[in-house]
Amino acid sequence: MTLLGMPAVPARPRKPLGDGSISFTPGHHFALAGTSTDHVGELAAASHAPLSVIVQVTKRCDFDCSFCSETLQMKDPSLEQLKVMATNLAGVHRVFLSGGEPLLRRDLSEVVDVFDGFIIGLPTNATRGMDLAPELAGRIEFANIGFDGPREIFRRVRGDYDKVLSGVQAFHRAGIPISFSAVVLRSTLHGLPYLVQIADVLGAGKVKLILPLRKGNALDLPEHEFITVEEATDHFHRLVELRTTHDWAPAVRMTPWTERTEGHMIVIEPNGNTNAWPVYDRPDLWLPLGNILQEPITALWERYPYKENHYAKYLGSSILTQDRAIR
Ligand code: SF4
Repeated sequence: MTLLGMPAVPARPRKPLGDGSISFTPGHHFALAGTSTDHVGELAAASHAPLSVIVQVTKRCDFDCSFCSETLQMKDPSLEQLKVMATNLAGVHRVFLSGGEPLLRRDLSEVVDVFDGFIIGLPTNATRGMDLAPELAGRIEFANIGFDGPREIFRRVRGDYDKVLSGVQAFHRAGIPISFSAVVLRSTLHGLPYLVQIADVLGAGKVKLILPLRKGNALDLPEHEFITVEEATDHFHRLVELRTTHDWAPAVRMTPWTERTEGHMIVIEPNGNTNAWPVYDRPDLWLPLGNILQEPITALWERYPYKENHYAKYLGSSILTQDRAIR
């Protein structure tokens, strides 16, 4: 049992993928069979498909976070279109069913069925967790819940803390492993230790920290809210020390925006447009690769210029982790 009396979610075993050189870990990330990440570039060059893609099953959301980059609206993809996407994504290991807020889709259960066979991650704000977590149990690998800090911070940058907390608990009660994802602003830095403490008490496996990107609502953030990579690194190391001191269980990771993380994500919009993200010198930070409704991912992957960054990020070698700083 956790401290809150909720049943602990048992750790899932490490899952070997493909030829076994890469596995999916109980920490909800990929890892190499060996410890060295020196040959990530070779692995990326020899690959035919991404490890992971983000599918925006809706652009709608019931929050309006101060840092949200996805504010442009677009019609939701139909189940038929999602089936075409799933077919054309053959070869990909993990699919994030993302938004916007995916729990706003009334047919999310059918959407999950469409992507059966992939490792499914659900990035969510959890506001509808109480309603939907039970029917997602056993069908998604984990829920990655946006959670930026204690109540004052959370309300200021995101929305209703208590509603989200109820959603988080609903996922946990349903036996769905959870991780937290927090956008770090200068005005939220002081809350990071409390965030990891909350994650520890709630049984989250990981706290992912990311820095805001200049798109959507984040274009209206005051300039001082953007911290530098050096500042982020310093704060991250202090957080890792506190994690050790207090014996907090969740893994902590931070993705700074550097040359090595540029373009590492592949995001599929509701209309099938597939983009490398974030690409720093593009006005909207998207680099269009094509449309997944018209071509298989293997064709889009061939023209994707950030293969090594993709592999390095998802194998943890270009980001900050509790075990290692950026190389
Ligand atoms: S960051 Fe996520 S939860 Fe917040 S408004 Fe954007 S899509 Fe919604």
